[in-house]
Order: sequence, then structure tokens, then C-alpha cells
Amino acid sequence: MPRIVQKFGGTSVGDVERIKKVAERIRSVRDQGNELVVVVSARAGVTNELIARAKAVCAVPSERELDMLLAVGEQETIALVAMALHGLGVDAVSYTGAQAGIFTDKVHTKAKISAINAKPIDLDLKAGKVVIVAGFQGINEFGHITTLGRGGSDLTAIALAAALKADKCEIYTDVDGVYTADPRVVPNARKLNEISYDEMLELASSGSKVMQSRSVEFAKKYNVIFEVRSSFNYNPGTIVKEEVSYMEKVVVRGVAVDKDQAKLIVSNILDKPGSAARVFRALADANVMVDMIVQNVGRHGVANLTFTVPQGDSHRALKALEPVLDEIGGGQVAIHDHIAKLSVVGVGMRSHSGVAATLFQALAEAGINIELISTSEIKISIVIDLDRADEAARMAHQVFNLDQPGI
Ligand code: ADP
Ligand code: ASP
Ligand code: MG
Repeated sequence: MPRIVQKFGGTSVGDVERIKKVAERIRSVRDQGNELVVVVSARAGVTNELIARAKAVCAVPSERELDMLLAVGEQETIALVAMALHGLGVDAVSYTGAQAGIFTDKVHTKAKISAINAKPIDLDLKAGKVVIVAGFQGINEFGHITTLGRGGSDLTAIALAAALKADKCEIYTDVDGVYTADPRVVPNARKLNEISYDEMLELASSGSKVMQSRSVEFAKKYNVIFEVRSSFNYNPGTIVKEEVSYMEKVVVRGVAVDKDQAKLIVSNILDKPGSAARVFRALADANVMVDMIVQNVGRHGVANLTFTVPQGDSHRALKALEPVLDEIGGGQVAIHDHIAKLSVVGVGMRSHSGVAATLFQALAEAGINIELISTSEIKISIVIDLDRADEAARMAHQVFNLDQPGI
């Protein structure tokens, strides 16, 4: 029997009516003769609400307790989906991450999956049950609940597809697939029929929240081909895989905006060997994800280090840096969070020059100032003012003709 892993995101299970619709969809796939594992997220908004409540009782909640709380969101939906299936006469069983055998490391709020014991699910599937699994959560070696980072239900689905050797992995969401840009920001964005892991990974890690970036990394590592598609219709979605037919022909494949970044400036530190190492070691030890880094060497032997971190990490970064500042000869740290990161992505950039020039020219004409720049073989990212981010995304989309069909 073909084995399918499906994942339904927060909007797809947003209320009881939608949960019933999802249950009907699951029943019809099961009735077509498939073994089915279904990963579900919390109802849309629930995870954010829970975070807000945590912060209302404690300004900096313990990350262990935060995981304990956030796991509740997904636990609600697995039970409701299983019940809705029972109502349709389908034999279904719900599992939390721990019950589904998803083991993680001990890093609360962004744990990595270390192992999956797929045996219990395998047995259920062979017994004809539909298995509903809570996305976004696992258990660590101490038996504590962990979560896999925001958007982590995508990772649960892809990791289970790999562990269960599924024939298909489908990520159901509230848009028809992966677009050339966020269709809510760029109205003439186009849906892509296929996209390579590398491009999807760059888009995801640059702020396209349609897929969690770590889930794409996992898919690439274990070669899990997956489809992103809508839970509201039956249109074909976007296939994400290693090689796609257009590859080198297209220079820019998509545009992403990340509004959850903060810029940190460590100023007036002594310009001597070891200063940068100390700063970034302290940040790494505090599990802060650093992205773009720029160093300006000033006069009088002092330097400034500017870099970006996820907004949620900025205060942890500040705390981690305070003890280091004295060691490296004074200096101050400032946080600027009214920024956005705009990225253009495409594997075809490897063999084309002029992409940066085209982008920078368009922004210059619109009077948008570029604060930081970083480039890789297949991506150019810039930091700009938050208020101009959406406009800049539309402009980049236009200037690289991403609205034109033919790929
Ligand atoms: P889910 O709850 O199903 O996981 P998400 O909200 O995490 O859904 O992701 C889907 C959203 O991602 C879409 O509603 C869309 O606004 C946004 N998005 C951002 N960039 C893209 C893109 N390039 N293509 C499609 N959707 C995108
Ligand atoms: N509920 C979690 C979140 O909102 C996980 C997910 O939806 O994938 O981030
Ligand atoms: Mg998501």
C-alpha cells in the first residue's frame, strides 16, 4: 500500500469546520487505499497567544516551561482531528511528539531531532489505522517536552516521511504552493511548479515562512521529495526536490522578506586579534543565530561589529555580550529592530553577474537606503528600513521579471 505523510498547517485546522473538512480529505485519501500519517499544527494564532500569555506572567519565561506550554496547541488539534475522523467512521489514533517516538536534543524552543522510533506508527499503519501526530514537538533524553522552532510542524512531517520511508510527503497550507514571493505582499507573484532544495532553503531561511528552513535542510539531507499545496482546493502545488528542469536558465527565482530580524551594533571595541572571536563565541554559546556580519575599522584602533540576529534572540544576545565587553576592551551594544532583510535567490546567479547592480539601482531610484549587504553564490541579502520592505520586495520582483510566465 502506498504510504503518505500529510501535514496540515494552522489555518487549515483553524476552527472546527476546517477540522471537519480536513478529516473528510483524509478519509478520501485513506479510502483510495493509502497508509496515512497526518501531522497537524496548532490552530492558527494559538501558538502566538500562548507565547503572549507566558510573557504576561513572566517577562522572560523559562524555555523549558515555554515548550511545556506551546506543545498544548498541537495536542488540541491532534485529538480533534482524530475525533472528527471517528465521526466519519475512520479508525484513527492521535500521538504527541513523544508518543510518536520523536527524540530531540536538549535545546528548548529550537530542538533538533536526534532520532525517531517509527515502530509504533509502523504497526498502527499496518493495522489499518490513520495516525495523527502533533507537529512541532518531541522529547529529550531527560523526558522533557521540547519544541522544534517556529513552523516546526513542517520538520515533523518531513522527518516522519524519511523515517517511515513514505512514498509521498504533502505539506498542506493556505496558499497553492511556493510562489516567486509572498503572494500577500507581491500580488502578481507566480506559483512555481517546481523548486530545488537549495533555492527553497535560501527562500525559507530568508523569511519565506511557507516552509520552515530546517525542514528543507532535513529534506535535502535525506532526499525527501515533497509537495507544498493548498488544503482549500485540489490544484497541483509546488514540488520541492534536488534537481529541477529550468535550473540554470533562470537567474532570480524568488524574493523573500524577513521582518523578524534585529541589527546589533557592538561599537568601539579594540581592533585586535580575538575580539570578533570572543563576541561570536559568546553568541554561539547562547544559541543565538547570527546572520549578516560587517566589521568597520575606525580610527584610534577601535572597530564596530554589526550583525543581524532573529528578533526573538536579540535580548539573549545582549545578555550574552555584556560580560564579554569588558574582556575585549570596553565597547557598547545597541539593538535596532526597525529593519527588514530583503533577499533575492536563484541558482542561476552562480553564472550571472550584475544581479546586485540591478537590485541596488532599483532601490537607489526609489530612495531606499541599504544598511547591510551580504552575498552568497545563489543569494543577495540586504538590510533596509522596515517601513520600505514590502515596497522593495515588489520592486525587486518587478525588476527581475518574476511575474513573467515561461519557466
Ligand atoms: P501553515 O500554517 O500552513 O504552516 P504558514 O503561515 O506557516 O502556513 O505559511 C504559509 C504562508 O507563507 C502563506 O500564507 C504566505 O503568506 C507565506 N509566504 C511567504 N513567502 C511565500 C512564498 N514565497 N510562497 C508562498 N507563500 C509564502
Ligand atoms: N504551531 C507552531 C508555530 O506556530 C508550529 C507550526 O505551526 O508549524 O510555529
Ligand atoms: Mg508554517
